[in-house]
Amino acid sequence: MFRTAFRQFVDKEISPNIEAWEKAGIVPRELFTAAGAAGCLGMGVSEAYGGGGEDDFRYNLIIGEEVQRAGTGGAGLSITLHNDICLPYFTSLCTDEQKRRWLPGICSGEIITAVAMTEPGIGSDLAGMSTTAIRDGDSYVVNGSKTFITNGINADLIITAVKTDPTQRHKGMSLVVLERVMDGFERGRNLEKVGLHSQDTAELFFSDVHVPVANLLGTEGQGFVHLVQNLPQERLSIAAAGVAASEAALGWTLEYVKERNAFGQPIGSFQNSRFKLAEMRTEIDLAQVYVDRCIEALNAGELTAEEAAGAKWWCTELQKRVVDACVQLHGGYGYMLEFPIARAYADARITTIYGGTTEIMKEIIGRSMGV
Ligand SMILES: Cc1cc2nc3c(=O)[nH]c(=O)nc-3n(C[C@H](O)[C@H](O)[C@H](O)COP(=O)(O)OP(=O)(O)OC[C@H]3O[C@@H](n4cnc5c(N)ncnc54)[C@H](O)[C@@H]3O)c2cc1C
Repeated sequence: MFRTAFRQFVDKEISPNIEAWEKAGIVPRELFTAAGAAGCLGMGVSEAYGGGGEDDFRYNLIIGEEVQRAGTGGAGLSITLHNDICLPYFTSLCTDEQKRRWLPGICSGEIITAVAMTEPGIGSDLAGMSTTAIRDGDSYVVNGSKTFITNGINADLIITAVKTDPTQRHKGMSLVVLERVMDGFERGRNLEKVGLHSQDTAELFFSDVHVPVANLLGTEGQGFVHLVQNLPQERLSIAAAGVAASEAALGWTLEYVKERNAFGQPIGSFQNSRFKLAEMRTEIDLAQVYVDRCIEALNAGELTAEEAAGAKWWCTELQKRVVDACVQLHGGYGYMLEFPIARAYADARITTIYGGTTEIMKEIIGRSMGV
């Protein structure tokens, strides 16, 4: 029932607008309030705070799958980032006062969220970050900058990784929540990207921003630990989107190769095409089983960092391989943006980089093997 309802939401609210949003480089804020009204935000948040009271990640998975099926992954990322990636920081780390202040708006879509870790000088090496938050009475004074921040233009609350003790690496990190309007907080450009055009990705600048201590998320000095606890869910969300994007690409391609003829026969009936399609079918099915197992583990509170890292690198590398092969099977039309596979190709490239690169995922797994 949730899938049917969300599919209708995509058909009504997202698909008719996707071309305009891709050109605008951003989705309107009303997409979030519409999603909130439709019960598609904060499904796991308790009803007392305006959520759905259903803490089962399969609901999130359905949203990720349906936006990919419709070829609207860029716009969909606005919602999945808010729901799958940012929200868990709030539900797991907020004090009761913060929950009362923020969760109802996050669930209704009136508050849009983002998470800012990456800086111009560092991405993979998070502990090397240089944005500082130095305590001054009841505030932290934040200085520095972030870049590549998804929902960066639209966001009202930004979970920001900072150094509260710049002399330390991991142990000096904390999370503070910046709000849309704070003196000294400025947004830079909405960055021009290769793909994901309907997704706003921005630079953020902080110059003596006074952030109340009441906006500290979790424990001072535990920021890295909090990130490590929340990143597996982020990575699983990206992995699941990768499998869904692969499934969508294969579906569009199957339709195409049955209709298009060359040398007097459908191009899908060449042995090379059949083998390619069969390989994709098999690999996607295998990936789906692994992702499903990871989701069961996440629901049971047992998903490990290594399992999530494995899902993330494998499924996004699969996505890249699949969309590339599908473009090839479309021939020249695969390079034309009027075909969904062309946008899927541009959108896929970032997935092995954001949320932690393939190389960093392999580092996480490799280290756990004692090497
Ligand atoms: C569209 C988009 C959206 C994003 N959204 C967000 C967001 O919402 N929030 C946020 O905080 N960030 C976001 N990012 C940033 C993203 O997470 C980083 O780009 C990513 O983590 C890589 O960091 P980097 O770009 O600094 O690359 P670098 O860390 O400089 O890495 C460059 C290359 O070196 C390799 N490398 C680095 N270290 C090692 C190592 N130890 N061993 C082997 N190879 C290594 C990497 O794998 C990579 O191939 C986004 C990025 C993009 C492009």
